[in-house]
Amino acid sequence: AAVWSDYTLRERAFLRKRRTKPKNKDFNIITQVGQGGYGQVFLARKKDTKEICALKVLNKRLLSKTDETRHVLTERDILTNTRSEWLVKLYYAFQDSESVYMAMEFVPGGDFRTLLNNAGCLIPQHARFYISEMFAAVNSLHELGYTHRDLKPENFLIDARGHIKLTDFGLAAGTVSNDRIESMKLRLNQVKDLEFSQIDRSISERQRLYKSLRSNDIHYANSVVGSPDYMALEVLEGKPYDYTVDYWSLGCMLFEAILSYTPFSGQSSDETYSNLKRWKQVLRCPRYDDGKPVFSDRTWQLITSLISSRNERLRSFKQVMSQPYFSE
Ligand code: ADP
Ligand code: MG
Repeated sequence: AAVWSDYTLRERAFLRKRRTKPKNKDFNIITQVGQGGYGQVFLARKKDTKEICALKVLNKRLLSKTDETRHVLTERDILTNTRSEWLVKLYYAFQDSESVYMAMEFVPGGDFRTLLNNAGCLIPQHARFYISEMFAAVNSLHELGYTHRDLKPENFLIDARGHIKLTDFGLAAGTVSNDRIESMKLRLNQVKDLEFSQIDRSISERQRLYKSLRSNDIHYANSVVGSPDYMALEVLEGKPYDYTVDYWSLGCMLFEAILSYTPFSGQSSDETYSNLKRWKQVLRCPRYDDGKPVFSDRTWQLITSLISSRNERLRSFKQVMSQPYFSE
């Protein structure tokens, strides 16, 4: 009994400490681990508890209006309480005059973009494995009532055991990404229909174009008016949509994981916008020079049902994935 009361006493003190809002100076920065659109992510240690965490620092000036900042914080506070293994946990959220801080669970395996850069192409089995895990992660975000709308390889992290975790979901329903979508929508309406067809280009040509487009602009993935490589057309058009827009992004990522370019990418981001406008014609199973299709029937079926998606098979897949066997 004495041990128990001692334990509860310590536990209560610990929980109280956790609840108090920390400040920037309560953390030792160890090193920078990531660069996002609105700020940096650092590996950090909380001085008193010695907890290791990923500290995300968002620049308030870049977040522009203070109203949006408040929105981000509320969003993050809600997510502190989620328990899903698929989502990166948020420990603390706080701010000072310059920045918004988010101390999250540190996920050591790097993001999926880095994995793709290092591995080149994945074999279809591996690609399908990661996409299934991403599907489960996105599903648990949906179960909380959020739609991400802006999923991309950078936002999926790999944990110490090789499993996927979703991060950067705080802005999911927030007003910040609305600005981004708004400016992308403007661009979508500005681009003229381009004459040339993707289908005429060889696979190696498209891989080369995609790679150079990415490396010529270091801010390619972060930029506020980015290329819509993974974004569903209805989001860009401002049309009504539901959670299935996130499946579109997963389909694009599955395609890219196997082939090293995204299905709608062109030689410029204008061309990508233009391809997106007529995505139904552009989305074709690529063939090697000898005419053989790149994807097996089942992989291609999965890609197309994710992108054009939202059919019965996918919805039943969702049911299967949420059964205990898969959510483990
Ligand atoms: P932004 O919202 O600005 O895009 P992200 O949350 O996506 O910022 O973080 C940017 C990058 O930092 C990610 O792509 C990833 O490489 C790294 N990162 C983010 N969160 C973590 C984390 N919890 N653990 C380890 N690395 C992280
Ligand atoms: Mg991000």
